[in-house]
Amino acid sequence: MTDIIRLLPDHVANQIAAGEVVQRPSSVVKELLENSIDAHSKNITLIVKDAGKTLIQVIDDGLGMTVTDARMAFERHATSKITSAQDLFNLNTKGFRGEALASIAAVSHVELKTKNQLSETGTTIVIEGSEVKRQDPCVTAQGTSIAVKNLFFNIPARRNFLKSNTVEQRHIIDEFQRVALAHPQIGFKLIHNNTELFRLMPSKSRQRIVNVMGKKIDNNLVPILEETELLKVEGFVAKPSFAKRTRGEQFFFVNDRFIKNSYLHHAVSQAFEGLLKPKTHPSYFIFLTIDPHTIDINIHPTKTEIKFEDEYSIYSILKSCVKHSLGQFNITPILDFDRDKSMDTRYDSFKSNAKLPKVEVDRNFNPFKTDSFPIDKSTNTKSNPIVWDKLYSHLDEDIKQQNEVLIENEIESSLLFNQLESSHNSFQYLNKYIITSNSEGLLIINQNRAHERILYEQFLKQITQEAASSQQLMFPLVLQLTTEEVSLLQALNDSLELTGFMFDFSKSDHGTILINGIPGILLESQIQEVIIELIEDFKAEIPASGFDRNNRLSIIMSKNMAIPNGKALKEEEQKDLIKALFSCKEPLLSPQNRPIFVEIDDNIIDKLFHT
Ligand code: ADP
Ligand code: MG
Repeated sequence: MTDIIRLLPDHVANQIAAGEVVQRPSSVVKELLENSIDAHSKNITLIVKDAGKTLIQVIDDGLGMTVTDARMAFERHATSKITSAQDLFNLNTKGFRGEALASIAAVSHVELKTKNQLSETGTTIVIEGSEVKRQDPCVTAQGTSIAVKNLFFNIPARRNFLKSNTVEQRHIIDEFQRVALAHPQIGFKLIHNNTELFRLMPSKSRQRIVNVMGKKIDNNLVPILEETELLKVEGFVAKPSFAKRTRGEQFFFVNDRFIKNSYLHHAVSQAFEGLLKPKTHPSYFIFLTIDPHTIDINIHPTKTEIKFEDEYSIYSILKSCVKHSLGQFNITPILDFDRDKSMDTRYDSFKSNAKLPKVEVDRNFNPFKTDSFPIDKSTNTKSNPIVWDKLYSHLDEDIKQQNEVLIENEIESSLLFNQLESSHNSFQYLNKYIITSNSEGLLIINQNRAHERILYEQFLKQITQEAASSQQLMFPLVLQLTTEEVSLLQALNDSLELTGFMFDFSKSDHGTILINGIPGILLESQIQEVIIELIEDFKAEIPASGFDRNNRLSIIMSKNMAIPNGKALKEEEQKDLIKALFSCKEPLLSPQNRPIFVEIDDNIIDKLFHT
């Protein structure tokens, strides 16, 4: 038999590599801009036609190249930026793989003009699909101009796969903005179809942000700054009132390189917790400077994802630094009790309010008492996800264990509730709101959020007081998970156990998890869904430890277990929900900081009839 293994010709290898590096016109933009920055350019112009499908040209006034370098630049693995693998750890440049120009030239028509300071004349090279068509001397200014035409001309499938011009143009602008934000000291221009879209003069970081994002952001920027041994954090966050409905204006730069990192994003979002309107996202421009030895940028070919050695510390530094700035600039509203301080405190001791003297209350009042819950024995528990007796019965136990602080809470809760007692009526509207009244006016309560709050406080109490009840299962439930999911569950195990879960990981090598016990308030039929939801929610973002993690866990569990909107509730169930809600420490806001009820003052109602 004859030998059948052959080396791929270079132009084929380049085309394959191009698939990784060059996904769309904006990838070319990114690579070319980064090369110009590495060449110490002071001014960079980007010219684009038809969203980059016809032309992408970058002109810089950087170092330029010699005749030989100009030719070499298009060879695969040709780079002036590293000479050994060790250099990867001392990287101060954007490029290092020496792949970009070779890849781009494999899938387009490229025309390069370049001249370095020492040369009299410049050189021009024309390459089409990896094939050098010509190289000649030419007259050109110092620096480099690279024009990339007809991208993917030789890969029709790729070309057809490109999105509309509007979409591709958006991607190009995104890349341009990221690079421009990271390098305010460099002047940038972007010209699209002969229209100048951006002209950015060299400036300070803040001015650059305003020039890129628009004037409106100017008065909304709050500076952040923190320097530790591990890293330096600087930049700006936008005030919560400036938060956007779309996630767009969120920029992390590490050593002047734009990166995406959902874990760090989470840290910033956490710092904004309670300050944002629902469904809005904070804007931020955060620059981290960190020893390159402690990061790994080589894990992604287009280098927008990086790995940090000490992610946990960066997370907490970032979070506290953003929080600090928001607080310092008086942006935090009074409602935001500082959760960090409570890190290792028992949940109920937060509320160690001064004693309420001489208040006449019924100390035996217990909003959770089972006998106040109607139990419809005829209801089939399997088909009815809300089994109220089950939902609350074990709380009797909890309440028996209450300490001094809790008794005080109860006094206050009863007070709140007494205001409600004046009204005995409640009814459900749209299967979603419970309408009732107190001495002040009408209350419209969102049932789902109310129940989330009740469950949240209950879980948090259980986890921090270590007092949950667990239902033992006669036959263990079997879950089949991926390795990643198993390790995630193991990481959460300590906290989950305190809510009543009992996992058996002995067969986890094969991804099999046995569940021997579940929280008292859960039904067996809900378990699978809850665990899966939990894992989904925690993927990529387990807060380090302590209160944060328990808090997240409680939020997620309450979200997944709360009665949904659209569920009909009997009158008794409504009342019980109201009672339980007003026994909460924070009945105003859901765990995700959304209002639970609105109050319509009697005066306002009266006024409506004064016509
Ligand atoms: P890398 O950036 O990873 O080194 P590239 O393929 O992007 O690989 O570029 C190859 C080489 O070409 C660079 O290392 C650099 O020496 C040279 N080069 C590319 N663009 C420019 C430019 N605008 N100005 C000067 N030199 C450049
Ligand atoms: Mg490069």
